[in-house]
Amino acid sequence: MRIAGVDIGGTSIKLGIFNQEGTTLEFIEYDTNSEQGGRSIIQHIIEKIEQFGAVDAIGVSTAGQVDNKRGIIVQGSANIPDTSGLQVKAMLEDHFTIPVAVENDVNAAALGENHFGVGKNLENFLFLTYGTGIGGAIVTDSEIFYGKSGFAGEFGHMITHGSGRQCGCGLLGCYETYASTTALVREAKKINPAYLNGKIIFEKYHDGDEEIKTVVHHWVDEIVIGLSSLIHIFNPPTIVIGGGIMEQEIIVQMISKQVKKNVLGSFSDVDIMKATLGNKAGMLGALSLHL
Ligand SMILES: [Zn+2]
Repeated sequence: MRIAGVDIGGTSIKLGIFNQEGTTLEFIEYDTNSEQGGRSIIQHIIEKIEQFGAVDAIGVSTAGQVDNKRGIIVQGSANIPDTSGLQVKAMLEDHFTIPVAVENDVNAAALGENHFGVGKNLENFLFLTYGTGIGGAIVTDSEIFYGKSGFAGEFGHMITHGSGRQCGCGLLGCYETYASTTALVREAKKINPAYLNGKIIFEKYHDGDEEIKTVVHHWVDEIVIGLSSLIHIFNPPTIVIGGGIMEQEIIVQMISKQVKKNVLGSFSDVDIMKATLGNKAGMLGALSLHL
């Protein structure tokens, strides 16, 4: 069986052909060119898949709010204009006449980890990705918990600071305005405008720069505040954390240690684990919908 996995993001589109064990047979990554609009993005995806030969099914992971039953992007991401209402499933099925599944990118990444990554032997876990914002997914009995309209798990907009900073969503004090990678960089730039990204920040951190250490430790505190609330609500056995910044092993260790001190004793036996599939999680999760 050959399944195409597609991950539509704001800056790039990743497209691979995989077998059902998740082994990569073909892979390309190319610029989204988001200004071209949704229909054109799908047309390009069709052309790329055709270049790789026949496939049996297609799984699509995409930014934005997704109606996964109908395979429609209900509310497109601000980074990819003109995708709200895009009928991804219908467009691809009309062309290829094979099964197509569409899932929100964070849910897809969680499913990817569940089928092929760190969550392989886990049935229940919370999944969070730290990047520009914070994405979340709830996996229960190896399935996504969707909530009434399919949008459950928006942990980034859990309010951790009442009347706090304004979030991009319009609310005040959302978790992601304090604990995302964007928030870390914002605070680091107050020390030095050249501290533009996680890579530079952690170079300084490992050099022993005390100012940047303080910023990083404060940011870890913010991560832990959110996780502690989630642990008290869900009592999960495991939390899987991902996003490029979590490649810093020391961060995962700090979070894990601090979380245990910040929850009620009976909740402290929670495992904090690092996601392992990196930027392939979305594609693999999307194709897992056909397995
Ligand atoms: Zn928000």
